Amino acid sequence: MATEISILNHLKDLKSTDKLPVLFIGHGSPMNAIEDNKYRKSWVDLGNQLPKPNAILSISAHWITSGSTKVTVMEKPKTIHDFGGFPDELFRQQYPALGSPALAKETIKMVSNPTIQPDMEWGLDHGTWSVLLPMYPNADIPVYQLSIDYSKPMQYHYDLALQLKALRNKGVLVMGSGNIVHNLGAMNYGNNVYDWALEFDTKIKKYIDSSNHEGVINFQKLGTLAKMAHPSYDHFIPLIYTLALKDKNEEINYFNNSFDLGSISMRSIVIN
Ligand code: ZN
Repeated sequence: MATEISILNHLKDLKSTDKLPVLFIGHGSPMNAIEDNKYRKSWVDLGNQLPKPNAILSISAHWITSGSTKVTVMEKPKTIHDFGGFPDELFRQQYPALGSPALAKETIKMVSNPTIQPDMEWGLDHGTWSVLLPMYPNADIPVYQLSIDYSKPMQYHYDLALQLKALRNKGVLVMGSGNIVHNLGAMNYGNNVYDWALEFDTKIKKYIDSSNHEGVINFQKLGTLAKMAHPSYDHFIPLIYTLALKDKNEEINYFNNSFDLGSISMRSIVIN
């Protein structure tokens, strides 16, 4: 779509020394990593047009912890194939990017409350590598992840993310990876988008456009609509991190504003 191309062109004006944009990527199916489709193509374009970061911090829907927030500090994170029922070709994919122990430790220090725990066990889950493989196929930018402590209220995630703002000036590209609507049980191969899915997606976009971050943080107040859009909240929480990193004067641009399989919003966001 023309509007989406112009959004990505807009990024060409950025210099690598500037504050880096913040992303929210609707990742959807892991097959988007290797399938020749519009989502994969948009990630290739994004990688070509963003200034090259020093490192990437991913907050993926697929790294859930309970009781503490963790940050990967290993030098060589492994590629995690955290899914089932997909072709062998997907299981063969590797994303051999290095970690960034130095930036990861700096990130831990940056957050005064809560205390973030260093992690040597996780790696790069598919919420991270399925997007980065098309974006940065050479895997030549270090990547580390921050977990989602699912035991905490939504406000915890926003307050934590506010403390990460300085990363953007250190050449770190922060990427939330989830989906604004994510109900796997309701997926349908006719791609018929449900009314509740559209309604939730539209409401959240309105909150974002009007800088109503309270509305996003308190999305559970939407009751049944929120429960339909998110039977669990793992894919929504990364959006809260992305929005917390937005400065007041910054613009919001959307791409991939469509639904996959009727109940997965692929809406993605660049803030800069
Ligand atoms: Zn996912």
